[in-house]
Amino acid sequence: MGGTGQPMLTWVRALAAMARHVVAVGSCAAYGGITSASPNILDACGLQYDGRYPGGALGADFRDRTGLPVINIAGCPTHPDWVTGTLALLARDQLGAQDLDPLGRPRFYADTLVHHGCTRNEFYEYKASARHPSDLGCLMENMGCIGTQAHGDCNTRLWNGGGSCTRGGYACINCTAPEFEEPGHPFETTPKIAGIPVGLPTDMPKAWYVALSSLARAATPERLARNATQDHIVVPPTSRPLRR
Ligand code: SF4
Repeated sequence: MGGTGQPMLTWVRALAAMARHVVAVGSCAAYGGITSASPNILDACGLQYDGRYPGGALGADFRDRTGLPVINIAGCPTHPDWVTGTLALLARDQLGAQDLDPLGRPRFYADTLVHHGCTRNEFYEYKASARHPSDLGCLMENMGCIGTQAHGDCNTRLWNGGGSCTRGGYACINCTAPEFEEPGHPFETTPKIAGIPVGLPTDMPKAWYVALSSLARAATPERLARNATQDHIVVPPTSRPLRR
């Protein structure tokens, strides 16, 4: 399209009006993402969202020729399977409005949380927390992990056959969500009030969290307490005969 004298946005709008389906690949295309971070001198936005607000380049009312809104394969980066899976479903006419979540993401990957399948789950349960990126413990309390709120099957689908951010020692920063690029605090830190993380699991009341985490902390096995702040296992699981 170079040399036509038309901005890309003009082309996108013209082509979208004729397209059977419009797919936004990646969080920038979906919601604005990193390119829309302050001061956003480019006035960047997503195809059908400006951050968390419907609108964007095509407008909130846009629908493709089949009646679908823009399909947001959000993620930074997006998992290759999410792209090929979505395109395969569209090619077979097996992806409808009911298969998209409220932010336009395909539910086959967005109905799972990053927390599901994380190898640090046992540490999470006992609030045995990492203090450094190489530690084995849960990354929520100190390292900024919001995998309990982030939509994506990263820890069950895995990347390149075996990896994920949390498995690599990097906290989940919720890159499939609008406005993840500006959390209001440095990545890899957990904002707290009175020692309690501000971003708690979305479906857990704060009082429950406080009560449960106090109990869990009191019951933390030494194995988890010690391993949580190590970069390798220093206390292996106890072996003992299993009797009925
Ligand atoms: S590191 Fe994050 S995703 Fe993993 S168990 Fe802890 S809170 Fe959940």
